[in-house]
Amino acid sequence: MIAQPQASHFVNGAYVEDTAGAVIEVIYPATGAVIARLHEATPAVIEAALAGAAAAQAAWAAKRPVERARILRCAADLIRERNPDLARLETLDTGKPIQETLVADWPSGADALEYFAGLAPTLGGETIPLGRDFVYTIREALGVCVGIGAWNYPSQIACWKSAPALALGNAMVFKPSEVTPLGALKLAEIFIEAGLPAGLFNVVQGRGAVGASLVTDRRVAKVSLTGSVPTGQKVYAAAAAGVRHVTMELGGKSPILVFDDASVEDAVGAAMLGNFYSAGQVCSNGTRVFVQKGIKAKFLKRLAERTAAIVLGDPLDAATQMGPLVSVAQMVKVLGYIETAKAEGATLICGGGRDPAGECFVQPTVFADVTDTMTIAREEVFGPVMAVLDFDTEAEVVARANATEFGLAAGVFTADLTRAHRVIGALQAGTCWINAYNLTPVEAPFGGVKSSGVGRENGHAAVEHYSQIKSVYVGMGPVDAPY
Ligand code: NDP
Repeated sequence: MIAQPQASHFVNGAYVEDTAGAVIEVIYPATGAVIARLHEATPAVIEAALAGAAAAQAAWAAKRPVERARILRCAADLIRERNPDLARLETLDTGKPIQETLVADWPSGADALEYFAGLAPTLGGETIPLGRDFVYTIREALGVCVGIGAWNYPSQIACWKSAPALALGNAMVFKPSEVTPLGALKLAEIFIEAGLPAGLFNVVQGRGAVGASLVTDRRVAKVSLTGSVPTGQKVYAAAAAGVRHVTMELGGKSPILVFDDASVEDAVGAAMLGNFYSAGQVCSNGTRVFVQKGIKAKFLKRLAERTAAIVLGDPLDAATQMGPLVSVAQMVKVLGYIETAKAEGATLICGGGRDPAGECFVQPTVFADVTDTMTIAREEVFGPVMAVLDFDTEAEVVARANATEFGLAAGVFTADLTRAHRVIGALQAGTCWINAYNLTPVEAPFGGVKSSGVGRENGHAAVEHYSQIKSVYVGMGPVDAPY
């Protein structure tokens, strides 16, 4: 089994401990066992991380992009080599089943490193002819970037933020969620082994206050947060005070629209993926499933049959399809939403409570006859709870799907191509799928509109969020001054 991280933080190329920081207990949510004890970063640790990043960044930015790329590709190779062990650690950190962490978490992180390693050396500026004179542009790094992660995809988030940042010549100080602090430390180890100079990727542990102190430091040029909308509002405001760049990947309450002509089997499968993968703890989940009345009965029947067959159990068992929620606190929150849905009159189709498989398990739960005003149709639950709503017409469902502060994702299931594109065009969401759901390849930009976020991760779009353009006017003749 992979070795546990040797200390709480990774700063300037090495593990660092400062036991003066408050204790963080890392709990395996399937059993409640404490699997590691870390400490929050003290001001001295935070200072060392920021100073190290600031000191290392300029030399890194001055390297040829292919040299930076070589190191990132090597890190991707190391991740793929060690994926079985890294996946096991991710499962212990999050409780997600090993059949997911083996294929989704670190592998998508490695994809991001490969993608941005390939992309960065191809980027150049432009030359703008002005007759005698001309302008050229240079794409430059931003400087020191802060990454702050949520607990649902801790290692993927660390990779998705550090890959474009490092490829484009930035340094990063990363703060994982205190609930899932282990994967980012492994990434820091791997970067050093791959040849990344010390100081360019630092990990500091802590709760919100540690994140807040990073965001306001004068050396920080950019903040990228994955988290909830309320945290995003605070972090965005704090970053704005220093006029810092931001990427905000926040929560959602995304709609999946299933029209009468859709394949029921595909729509049911996608709705299940979009509500039950990672025990429903996925920001882009399609948690409002609007089903046209003509196929409602068929849809619910297959959904109930397939949901009842989901295997809950030991996350380290390859046969397990759903693990626990990440923590007791999250389980209590999700159970509260289930009780509220019952009290507000939604029809319980299956699930509806705790599961005896272990410590923080919640049954995959489906509610039908959900109306737009019910709490589970308005608030992000972040657990395995699907809300099925009925609709009659396209115009009606589009208006209802858009009637939310969120705008992260949306999906449409229909056999009518024209309708699919027309509806996607009308939906207010940053990341959309037609006859598919929740596939997020690194090649595709990912992010939200409205309260779900600012900026994009992945794809060419991320380049704009980790670099800036310098515009250079070149005078080729005498200066024409009227004085
Ligand atoms: P939170 O918003 O609670 O926390 C996100 C991160 O921000 C954590 O590391 C947290 O630290 C830190 N933080 C909290 N307060 C501050 C502050 N004032 N300043 C700086 N940092 C702070 O989210 P969760 O960890 O609970 O994750 C779940 C949320 O993340 C959901 O809403 C989900 O939708 C969203 N999410 C969005 C994704 C997207 O790409 N759009 C992807 C995945 C999740 P700590 O936890 O240690 O307190």
